[in-house]
Amino acid sequence: MKIIVLSITQYKEKDGIIDAISEQGSITFLAKGIMDPKNKNSAINNALVIADIELNEGNYKYPVLKTASITFTPMKTSNSYYYLSSLLFIGEVTKTLLQDEEKIEIFETLADAVQKLKTTDNPWPIVLVYLAKLLTIGGYEFEVNQCVFCGTKKEIVAFSFKDGGFVCKNCMEVDTERDLSKTQMLLIRSAFNTKDIKEANFECTKEDAIVVLNKFNEFIVDSYGLNLKCFDLLNK
Ligand SMILES: [Zn+2]
Repeated sequence: MKIIVLSITQYKEKDGIIDAISEQGSITFLAKGIMDPKNKNSAINNALVIADIELNEGNYKYPVLKTASITFTPMKTSNSYYYLSSLLFIGEVTKTLLQDEEKIEIFETLADAVQKLKTTDNPWPIVLVYLAKLLTIGGYEFEVNQCVFCGTKKEIVAFSFKDGGFVCKNCMEVDTERDLSKTQMLLIRSAFNTKDIKEANFECTKEDAIVVLNKFNEFIVDSYGLNLKCFDLLNK
């Protein structure tokens, strides 16, 4: 079975309980001895590793890992701060923003995202597209191609989470959120319009990405009632 590790919780002295997603959805299993670096399966003790695994149904609460063959690891010889925080970001949003049954739909995108992240110097387009995909799977649709009220493509002046997308000059109300620059609004547009995350190559500076991600964070706090740690890491 092909899986992507989302998180590892230490259990007893040297065992780990692994939360992962597979093409069939969420899966949790016990991996004995993986906290010991000499253990043959210790490489699985790493979030966002992709592996082919075999499990044994035993007498434990969870199935037990029998063999693991690692097909991808996100670790590089030098890991920059923003590379690591983008990995943490992707792991945390996947784990917390999706229902179990929705995780089936993100599996391929997650595999593509972590593999692309490893090979690029600019993590931001990937992070933004990934978050957009996740929100879309979770049922949040935003209008990013025209005014959400009147359908015009001209004089778009705001992106409003409350209204569900772009708002044109004529449809602006006094209290419509208007705190993103044109470039930042176009980033949101590119994020939702990029169909395949492997094609997430649009221009995006760290500064603009962080402003946009903070807006998404406000939306996540309001809509999901969640405060995600990964957003604090990006702001450091
Ligand atoms: Zn309008």
